[in-house]
Amino acid sequence: MSTTDPKLMDKIISLAKQRGFVFPGSEIYGGLANTWDYGPLGAQLRMNIKKLWWQDVVERRPDMVGLDGAILMNPKVWEASGHVTTFHDPLVEDVVTHKRYRADHLLEKALDTTMAGKSLEDMAKLIVDNNILSPDGNELTPPKQFNLMFSTKIGPVSDSGTDVYMRPETAQAIFVNFRNVLQSSRQRLPFGIAQIGKAFRNEITPGNFIFRTLEFEQMEIEYFVEEGEWETKFEEWQKWMQEWAVKIGIDTEKLHADDIPENDLAHYSKRTIDFDFEFPFGKDELWGLAYRTNYDLSQHQEHSGEKLVYTDPQDPKNKFIPHVIEPSMGVDRTMLAVLVSAYDEETVNDNTRVVMRLPHIIAPYQVAILPLQKKLELQDVAKKLYTILGGKYRTEYDETQSIGKRYRRQDEIGTPYCITIDFESLKDNAVTIRERDSMKQERIAIDDVVNYLEKTLQ
Ligand code: ATP
Repeated sequence: MSTTDPKLMDKIISLAKQRGFVFPGSEIYGGLANTWDYGPLGAQLRMNIKKLWWQDVVERRPDMVGLDGAILMNPKVWEASGHVTTFHDPLVEDVVTHKRYRADHLLEKALDTTMAGKSLEDMAKLIVDNNILSPDGNELTPPKQFNLMFSTKIGPVSDSGTDVYMRPETAQAIFVNFRNVLQSSRQRLPFGIAQIGKAFRNEITPGNFIFRTLEFEQMEIEYFVEEGEWETKFEEWQKWMQEWAVKIGIDTEKLHADDIPENDLAHYSKRTIDFDFEFPFGKDELWGLAYRTNYDLSQHQEHSGEKLVYTDPQDPKNKFIPHVIEPSMGVDRTMLAVLVSAYDEETVNDNTRVVMRLPHIIAPYQVAILPLQKKLELQDVAKKLYTILGGKYRTEYDETQSIGKRYRRQDEIGTPYCITIDFESLKDNAVTIRERDSMKQERIAIDDVVNYLEKTLQ
């Protein structure tokens, strides 16, 4: 099914709820808009994506180390990074309904041109000159800047507590700990620090399921380099991101690495690529890759008064602030792109079969063990097999409903292999293994199952 079919989104949201990938947040209390809870399969899928990322980025690379920074940081961090003064979006309000919108998004849609580089005054004028109204047809307030950081207070008394922010990105913990990592690890340039963690943004227009939420998770890398090598390293990371998209099953025909035009670049960035994906609701940013010069470390050095320089081990007189390449990836958007890419429908015997063609490496379950009936002898064999496979693979045991319905469920959650134990198994010590994509069934001796899976699971 095409990833740009608008109906696909509804199908995925409904499957995600029904099968236990994603539930609306706080549902029994009427929900809380734009919050989502990940169910058993969603939690596992996210875990698999994050584990794979961590293995590929940290564990399998000598030039990378990990970090797990705090969500709450000294508020000076956000002054130094520029978030207090510049991390905002232009907000307009419908004067009748009081619904809020992004002024730039409304204008871009109405005028079909970018608002990059436009000031609040420019946008105010464009709204008046072009008689731009809210989607409900009402007048709009003039745009004002709205900071996206959530703030909260530390301390027992709310009005005298210290104001702090919930981090809007994970990256700053990496910059703030640059010296600690340098001193405690054996790393020398070029090297990188990776982190996975929650970030929070008070988005003006959250929505599109888990695409834009208030609370989300990021997988971020700051890769420190000498200034002269930034272009090579940028290209290496771009290639890595493209290859990783293939590895996790993202439809790369729908993935576009677009260079951000110069007039739209953040003032400290010399090059940024948005990896846009064609979601069912339109093309939008999946991941970002930015060359941030040495802006962040310089800012933190200036604001903290602490030296954040690197000494060239070959030439100790050569001290400088490293430059940085930042591959930044949202876990939630990655999961959405993976689900959108994997979802497929086909007609089998006049019925529609829904199948999630997830790569084996990230599928929530790799194997399902299905005794044909709830009969003690079959359950016995099935449970023994579960003990063997459970320690090696993500394995589900399911003995409910008819075998047809169980296959259907496993297809919809993307389990590559179903193993059925039937009455023949008691005689021939063999089981039927069904492959998800081809639905091909093979009879395999129980003793050969591990061997079979070892060879076929990728
Ligand atoms: P956008 O333009 O869509 O708001 P951004 O350019 O502000 O995104 P970055 O600051 O580059 O996003 O964040 C890095 C990554 O974090 C994004 O590429 C995306 O995968 C993820 N991300 C950012 N904001 C959100 C959000 N509100 N909900 C879910 N994921 C997000």
